[in-house]
Amino acid sequence: MLVLIAASLALFWWRFRKVLFIIRGSRPTPDFEVAPWGPRIRDFLWEVAAQGKVIRQRPLPGLAHAFVFWGFCAFALITGNHLASAFGARFLSPAGGFGRFYFTFVALWAVAVAISIAGLFVRRFVVRPKWLGPVSPESGFIAFLIFVLMVTYLAGMGVAEDSLAGKATWWTHTLALLIFLPLIPHTKHLHLVLSPVTVFLKREGFSRIPPLAGDEDFGLDTGKDVTRIDAMQAFSCVECGRCTEHCPAYNTGKVLNPKEIVLGVRSYLNEFGPAHEAALLGKHISEEAAFQCTTCGGCEFQCPVGIQHLPMIIGLRRGAVNTGKWEDEYGTKLFLNLERNGNALGFAASERQKFIEKNALPLYDGTQEYCLWLGCMGSYDPQGREIVLALARVLRHMGVTFGVLRKEKCTGDPARRLGNDLAFSQVAEANIETLRGAKVGKMVSICPHCVRTIGTDWREFGASFEIEHHSELLARLEPRLPAAEASRPTTVYHDPCYLGRYRNIYEEPRAVAAHAGTLVEAPRARERSFCCGAGGGQMFLGEEKGKRVNVTRVEELVGTGAEVIGTACPFCQTMFRDALGVVTQSPPKLLDIAQMVAASLPAEVPKTPS
Ligand code: SF4
Ligand code: SF4
Repeated sequence: MLVLIAASLALFWWRFRKVLFIIRGSRPTPDFEVAPWGPRIRDFLWEVAAQGKVIRQRPLPGLAHAFVFWGFCAFALITGNHLASAFGARFLSPAGGFGRFYFTFVALWAVAVAISIAGLFVRRFVVRPKWLGPVSPESGFIAFLIFVLMVTYLAGMGVAEDSLAGKATWWTHTLALLIFLPLIPHTKHLHLVLSPVTVFLKREGFSRIPPLAGDEDFGLDTGKDVTRIDAMQAFSCVECGRCTEHCPAYNTGKVLNPKEIVLGVRSYLNEFGPAHEAALLGKHISEEAAFQCTTCGGCEFQCPVGIQHLPMIIGLRRGAVNTGKWEDEYGTKLFLNLERNGNALGFAASERQKFIEKNALPLYDGTQEYCLWLGCMGSYDPQGREIVLALARVLRHMGVTFGVLRKEKCTGDPARRLGNDLAFSQVAEANIETLRGAKVGKMVSICPHCVRTIGTDWREFGASFEIEHHSELLARLEPRLPAAEASRPTTVYHDPCYLGRYRNIYEEPRAVAAHAGTLVEAPRARERSFCCGAGGGQMFLGEEKGKRVNVTRVEELVGTGAEVIGTACPFCQTMFRDALGVVTQSPPKLLDIAQMVAASLPAEVPKTPS
């Protein structure tokens, strides 16, 4: 027994120490602090101990997985006792009071684990959802070992220990255990050991882009740039494919598969070890894939082991763009627009000025309640301008004072997410100076991307502006709005990624949309909402491969039969407008929530000239 246990532990350690060596040899994570502990403990209890995320997002397989996990926890004492019994050092006896209870308690878990693992086996090898990837014989073998462990435990309870059957079950159980242990670090079951730590130590914030650590930091260019958190996350991937299942790029035939990005980092580290100088993009990770991401956050939201894809994917883009190694097709035109005109659409700033004057939008002078941030879409895009004017009309009607800035540049969102930190910092810092000069207090914007970038990304320049999305403001005003018409069109509301998953705002826009319409839900809604395809700079790149993301989403929204498609993001609206013509001959109305509310107001009486 000693030899067998030693061999099993040695094989475990032989591989596990290599993984530890790679993680410890990687760069310390510059933006990382363990404190505050509260949210980490809360996430650990919910995601690991309670398996809340796994169950909530995939109830049936999630519950099966949770039973296996909880069963393993219950079995820890029994396993220790089992191995100790080989040396006459058993500390739990079925004859004792606690022992009798505990053996029976664990027997119930053994039944639950055996049924669950059999169910998971059927799902993986018979049902075979496509995002699980190719059939994995190692998964089948591990499932078999777990099943054997449970069955032999149950069988051992019904036979005398020193009988032939008793000895056979004891040895089968022991051998299954000793084979299982070294397989853990050699397979994706390494997550059993790593993922509780990964979940506890994940970076703070959702899809947060870490600030660069000084002038020598360009993002994820070579293995030297991979941080310990990145390495630990790469080795924690359980290859469940939840990220793949929800990825709009993968689901529309692009090269990108978020799971493969994570596994690509793992393969790179396995081949080269930590802190190697070879480029990350290339053999193990495709550059094309990295630039197909819409930054929708679906992958990161779904991952059950705390892997944060966005810092990885945007880190890879940064590594390519900041070092000038990327293909010119990825954003050159956008970057030039930002540099020359200060906005993503490439218009002269005077066009914005004309729009403000023509529509008599008041200028912000510090006395108004809100600074209305227009953003590139609200300043230059005809449809975006309509949304701004609708919001302005509602605010005026409700007596909410606001003003717009004389000058605005792009927040830098698309440049930031395409990996161009220089272009991002130039526009962001210019805007921060303008806002500080105008002594801006509260801000509101029609664009969730602007809200995210101003409220979160700009913090690394020391800015802390109070900004909210117009759905939040309108939801507060909604109870005071005049009653809408009795006959309300059916309306399907599309959750924009940067408002839903990024900001956790789901109810407010629905409350506003429900004021003017009767809500129906799309099959993928709220935190599972499917991207419109514009984010992460994709709006300015143009999709080349596969089916268009916006067409896929619009087909789903049109399929609900709603008379109105409701949006709360000017990017979504533009993407849907483009797709509606392709999808249907008789498109439903496409309205932002501000336009819905504005349409329900009494008609404005034109002012008569004095
Ligand atoms: S952020 Fe969205 S588009 Fe990008 S990899 Fe994740 S799921 Fe796919
Ligand atoms: S990255 Fe997360 S969600 Fe994707 S396959 Fe790995 S464990 Fe599953």
